Amino acid sequence: MSRVMNFSAGPAALPLAALERAREELLDFGGTGMSVMEQSHRGKDYERVHDEAILLLRKLLDVPADHDVLFLQGGASQQFAMIPLNFLDAGARADYVLTGAWGEKALGEGQVVARMFGAEAHVAASTGTGDGKEKSYTRAPRPAEVTADARARYLHVTSNETIHGVQFGADPARPVPTAPAGIPLVCDMSSDFLWQRFDVRQYGLVYAGAQKNIGPSGVVVVLARKDLVASGRKDIPKIFQYRTHADANSLYNTPPTFGIYLVRNVLAWVDAAGGLDGMRARNLAKAAAVYGAIDAAKSFYDCPVERESRSVMNIVFRLPPGLEDRFVSEAKKAGMVGLKGHRSVGGIRASLYNAVEVAHAEALASFMKEFARANG
Ligand SMILES: *Cc1c(COP(=O)(O)O)cnc(C)c1O
Repeated sequence: MSRVMNFSAGPAALPLAALERAREELLDFGGTGMSVMEQSHRGKDYERVHDEAILLLRKLLDVPADHDVLFLQGGASQQFAMIPLNFLDAGARADYVLTGAWGEKALGEGQVVARMFGAEAHVAASTGTGDGKEKSYTRAPRPAEVTADARARYLHVTSNETIHGVQFGADPARPVPTAPAGIPLVCDMSSDFLWQRFDVRQYGLVYAGAQKNIGPSGVVVVLARKDLVASGRKDIPKIFQYRTHADANSLYNTPPTFGIYLVRNVLAWVDAAGGLDGMRARNLAKAAAVYGAIDAAKSFYDCPVERESRSVMNIVFRLPPGLEDRFVSEAKKAGMVGLKGHRSVGGIRASLYNAVEVAHAEALASFMKEFARANG
């Protein structure tokens, strides 16, 4: 067996221990004579896995009792719609902070729902420059640049912009924005969930698609304050109401059982690998290696993102014209895959999620140094 060094942006690398455990338990889960995929979601064997995954999230993140932990489907993209569907009453407004392409998508869905409900969705701050194909984002705003309306129903931020490589909270000078008193802060943490500690109490609602940092695609984790859940609209379909899933412990309908099982395996690995402090140390070491290779060959590699906003999870950079395809193909020969930048922005992107080994990031950094020497 030879496994590659996987720098994909998502679906992304999973911890080997989580996959090996799944292989071990695949045909006969816990002595039941069947795989976890074949079990009823109402049975006690599945329910143990489901509840263990929730408990591990509560423990790792110190989730307070007044927040629900939910497993939903439809990807983070469905949350772009579900959030305004639940919280935008007629006449209400929602505010969005834009630092990249995912925040734009969230705003777009917010505007669609706002039109349906006679509400509004506004940009509270944006660091975007240019238009159309030239649109780019190279930084997160400083706290003073974000002014949410005091009447906003919520303030939406994207803690890490996966495509543009712009992150809040990696540098103390760019903390995740705070919302005015009484306004719930809503955060898309899809691509930096569980990379380091954060205070759940500061957030009304956090959501994260699993396929970046905590599992396979098909599961979305939502942490939501109970009073916010209870305040949501009741005149939308039940399946889109947070309360439906909160009231049923995420077992209202059939959940993605195998996906949640794998999330359980990943969370158990995070716990055994030193929890969030362990993840942070790993992630900072990996990012230091790759940014170090960029900074050591400044005339060859260009990272467009301002230093304080550089993402620890997704590192984007460009090479001199004509060399990016060669970089990707030579990296592949050296066992490194998933390095091509997003189709909308081009360039190179190295995603260094929790499961990516420190040794793999170091191997990439060595490869980069050698490639710059040979082609610079
Ligand atoms: C990947 C990603 C999404 C979209 O996730 P889907 O599961 O494909 O809907 C949304 N937001 C961020 C920050 C992402 O990285």
